Amino acid sequence: MQAVFVALQQSRRVFLKHGRRAPVSSGGHNGRSLPAPIPVHAFYADHFILPLPSGHRFPMAKYGRLRERLTVELPQVRLGQALPASDGELALVHLPAYIQAIHTGTLDAAAQREIGFPWSPAMAERARRSVGATIQACRAVMAGAGLAANLAGGTHHSYAHKGSGFCVFNDAAVAARLMQTEHARRHRATGPLRVAIVDLDVHQGNGTASIFASDDSVFTLSLHGARNFPFRKEPSDLDVELPDGCGDTEYLEALERALEELEQRFDPGLVIYLAGADPHEGDRLGRLKLTFDGLEARDRRVMDWAWQRRLPLAFTMAGGYGTDMEATVQIQMNTYRTALDYHHRWQGMAGVWPADRSATDPATPHWQNPAP
Ligand SMILES: [Zn+2]
Repeated sequence: MQAVFVALQQSRRVFLKHGRRAPVSSGGHNGRSLPAPIPVHAFYADHFILPLPSGHRFPMAKYGRLRERLTVELPQVRLGQALPASDGELALVHLPAYIQAIHTGTLDAAAQREIGFPWSPAMAERARRSVGATIQACRAVMAGAGLAANLAGGTHHSYAHKGSGFCVFNDAAVAARLMQTEHARRHRATGPLRVAIVDLDVHQGNGTASIFASDDSVFTLSLHGARNFPFRKEPSDLDVELPDGCGDTEYLEALERALEELEQRFDPGLVIYLAGADPHEGDRLGRLKLTFDGLEARDRRVMDWAWQRRLPLAFTMAGGYGTDMEATVQIQMNTYRTALDYHHRWQGMAGVWPADRSATDPATPHWQNPAP
């Protein structure tokens, strides 16, 4: 126990908050090696390069950069290649005709323009894998991992029948429905798995809200800029509109009230968290004024809220359009550092998970991929 405590303390000291790396000791006290920490699992698909015309405003390079920095700076995060979501999985949310049109590149020009990316086989493949990454992260946390992540995802502007705003398929929605299906298969006698989607991207989660509009088993919470895209918003279960220029204090107070209300109205068994970097003051599209510290406090509050209630939490990166792309990636790195803190707490719970979560053989968890 003492060794674990020392390992925790050391892992917290190794990384300084804004990205600089502190010296790492090779061993513990008295020169003995510390036990290897159990990694956080995170899934990526950025190696499917989506060809964009020169000058396109979407910062595609941020995904590869995040993976590169995680590899170098946070080896406790174990990266796995995302598997593609199947047609059947996508069809838990999306219309078969839409899935097919994305697959074959036969979407009409207006619908393709609304997505904002030109079609290519890589676009279609990447969209499937981005959903697959959130599915795998959700399976990991439902199997007892506590926290797990998708290095992309958070494509919340995607509706059942169409894409929009750089979002092809709605990863959180598909993963939520699939986790409910898998849960129902294992627990026939109990009620449906209840899923809370906590969407803190600066833009409203209109697609997600629309998909679950008449579904009481999924609670959609969206904190977003009132005057930002999408200009025609869909009613979530709980929408919190923030004024332009909203800063840390106002934001964190609004988040606190929102979590309180969520808790009064809903009792989730799984949380999917969209940790958008675009509320940052340096974001080109965000219109809010959160600082690095404010965003870190936001992540900590959501993860702490889930941890206090022992709710498994899968997180996705959602939007981030920093004037300086490195600032966007830094915010995401801070999210991973916060997640590692909470992951350690979940690991301290090992052996006392509910039976269904510990049923998976930890040596060969079914949600884990072979190395790419
Ligand atoms: Zn956004």
